[in-house]
Order: sequence, then structure tokens, then C-alpha cells
Amino acid sequence: MKGLVYDGPRSVSVQNVPDARIERPTDVLVKITTTNICGSDLHMYEGRTDMETGRVLGHENMGEVIEVGGAVDRVRVGDLVCLPFNISCGFCRNCEKGLTAYCLTTPVDPKMAGAAYGFAGMGPYAGGQAEFLRVPYGDSNCLVLPEEAREKQTDYVMLSDIFPTGWHCTELAGVRPGETVVIYGAGPVGLMAALSATLKSAAKVMVVDRHPDRLALAEQIGAIAIDDSKASPIDQVNEQTNGLGADRGCECVGYQAHDPQGHEHPNLTLNNLVQSVKFTGTIGVVGVFIPQDPGSPDPLYKKDGEIAFDYGMYWFKGQSMGTGQANVKAYNRQLCNLIQLGKAKPSWIVSHELPLSQAPQGYEHFDKRDDGWTKVVLHPGS
Ligand code: NAD
Ligand code: ZN
Repeated sequence: MKGLVYDGPRSVSVQNVPDARIERPTDVLVKITTTNICGSDLHMYEGRTDMETGRVLGHENMGEVIEVGGAVDRVRVGDLVCLPFNISCGFCRNCEKGLTAYCLTTPVDPKMAGAAYGFAGMGPYAGGQAEFLRVPYGDSNCLVLPEEAREKQTDYVMLSDIFPTGWHCTELAGVRPGETVVIYGAGPVGLMAALSATLKSAAKVMVVDRHPDRLALAEQIGAIAIDDSKASPIDQVNEQTNGLGADRGCECVGYQAHDPQGHEHPNLTLNNLVQSVKFTGTIGVVGVFIPQDPGSPDPLYKKDGEIAFDYGMYWFKGQSMGTGQANVKAYNRQLCNLIQLGKAKPSWIVSHELPLSQAPQGYEHFDKRDDGWTKVVLHPGS
């Protein structure tokens, strides 16, 4: 089958790779119809991770079930399914509490929790930017979609990651109706956090970035765009909140953040959040911060393998913070309902739909944050 493989930093290509197949009786085999490029893929693409070459990328997947293993009894051939990016067993201590991002069964390393498709350090699983995908524990890891999803794949595919992740960020931040919320990052994840805060009836949603096309998408759903290339985002948020700071903050950038002056400040967003959120406010962090080895040559990151977080100011302000990967499955049913009932249309951020053969160009443009390249959706069958 054809799959998009990692060849090395800033190099991916579509190759013939071994066919995905049923390997265990609990597996489901899916023919991928829609699969996205994610900001998280850029951690591998930009060479920030120890990704082995030749591996198929892609963790935002949906498609049609074409085969099920002998021990699968809920999912059926022909079902259209969306696949949470977390690969989880459904029965370990963490999964039984809904914490599927921290599954104890699916990582191969016993010191790890959580696994994902096509991701460095998250298990050996192949990604779905390919014609077919093996889904372990298929009964647990397939969200069976309503029939209308066949015609609205660019909405429903967002259930695999970024819509639940944006929602998770607002859950970690504790967003409630009538509150003010500041979101750092107007990439796909930040825009989904803005959508989620809006769905939760936040009174004022502010989104910080510097790309006009992305900020315009935030404005389309009623958020206030804060352009940090024009003035300090902290000052702008304070102006918008009568000097108090926002009630809640969301970090949707991660360790690849750049500061507006072009310096590399991976921790900048965390410290900006502490400064932009009120005393006793709450911050949710879904932007990825991967532990780094001291002395790692990664130029985009840290000093001595650590980030310089201003803990003193965070403590002084009496704030609290929630972090980590989204437990996608825990939110999928309710977010699927919001799409089906017309209350959420996450496809508003989709800028490009490409065949798999053009995925390398999609990566290149998305990685450069080229104007208008907000979210790239791939269709392997087309
Ligand atoms: P993206 O890179 O397209 O978006 C990031 C945005 O942040 C860009 O628009 C960029 O201009 C902006 N930005 C950079 N520096 C900034 C700064 N200092 N202040 C404000 N904005 C700044 O990526 P994305 O797809 O939106 O993903 C964002 C992050 O979320 C990544 O780290 C990704 O790995 C992570 N993520 C986490 C989860 C999870 O489960 N926790 C899931 C998916 C993605
Ligand atoms: Zn993703």
C-alpha cells in the first residue's frame, strides 16, 4: 500500500510500505478516507524527536472498516469510523477512568503511559497517512459515525484529535459560562479551543498569534484577535479585561513557540499566560512539551534540557494548571453530537484537501505556516 513516510528532518515522501493487516483478534482494519496533517506531526517533521526513518506518519484518521478480527464484536465491516489518536485498551486502570491518553497496556515500554499512531516515542504503531490502518483494540478505539458523516468528513475527522484536544484545553482551564478566556496559538488546536470556549458560552474569547489568516478564522467565530507582532499580548489582554487578566488561559502552541522578535523562547507562552491570566485563574496546557535530554542539540528548545518557567510568579498569583494529552474518547460522543446537531462545524478551519500523493507539499506549506495553509486534509483514496 502507499503511505507517507518520514525520511529525515523536513523530508517526507509517499512510498510503497507493507500492507496494514489484522495482527491480533482484537484488531480492526480501516481503509482510510480522510487523514489530517497536525501540528504534532511537525515535531517529527522538523526533527525535534527521535523518529525512525521509514515510519508512516498520521494520527488524525477516519475511514471505512473493511475487516475485523475474530474477537471484535461491536464494530462491523462497512462502518464509517473516526479513530481517536490515543491507542488505548479500554480496560487498564487509567482507561477505566476515561484517561485513555495514559493507557497502560498499549505502550510497549512499561515505564510509559499512552500510545498513538505514527508518533515518535508513543509506541510502534504505524500512522494513518496511508491507504489502510491497523486499529488495535478496535471495539474500544473506533467511534462509529452517523451516516451523514460520509458527506461531512472534514467535520467528523476533527474528532480524532484537534476538536477534543481544544475542548480538553478548556476543560483543563475550567472554562465556565460568562468567563473571559485567553488562548495562545491560533493554529488548528488553538482555534478548536476558541470554538470550545465559545460553545461553553465564554463571555470573551481572545486568541493570540501573529498570522493574519489564522487570526481571521478566530474572528469568524466571534473571538477577539490579539496580534502579538503589534504590541505585547499581555498588555492587550489586560486592556481587554479592565486590567484584571483573563479568568482562564489556554496554551495551544507548545515547545516550538517563537517569540514575536524572532528569538526562540519555547517557554514564552507559559510565562505570557501566567501574566495574562488573573490572580487565582486557571491555565490549561495542551501544546506539547516533550522531555529533552540535557545537552540535546535541539536548537529550538531549552537550556540544559529544562524550560525556564516563572514558577514564582505563577505561585504568587495563586494560579493552577492542568496539562497533557487529550483523552479523546472521553469527549467524542458529546462532540460528535454537537457536529451532528449543527452546533459545531470544525471544518471551518480546513484550508486544503489534497490526495495522499501531494502530502509532501502539504507538509512543506503547513510547516512554513504559509499564508492560508491552516489545516491540510488528505484523502488517500482520491
Ligand atoms: P501549529 O504549529 O499549526 O499552531 C501553533 C500556532 O502557535 C501557530 O499559528 C504559531 O504562529 C503560534 N505561535 C507560535 N509562537 C507563539 C507565541 N509565542 N504566542 C502565540 N502564538 C504563537 O500547531 P497546532 O496543530 O495548532 O498544534 C499546537 C500544539 O498543540 C502543538 O504543540 C501540538 O503538538 C499540540 N497538540 C497537543 C495535543 C494534545 O493532546 N495535548 C493534540 C494535538 C496537538
Ligand atoms: Zn494531531
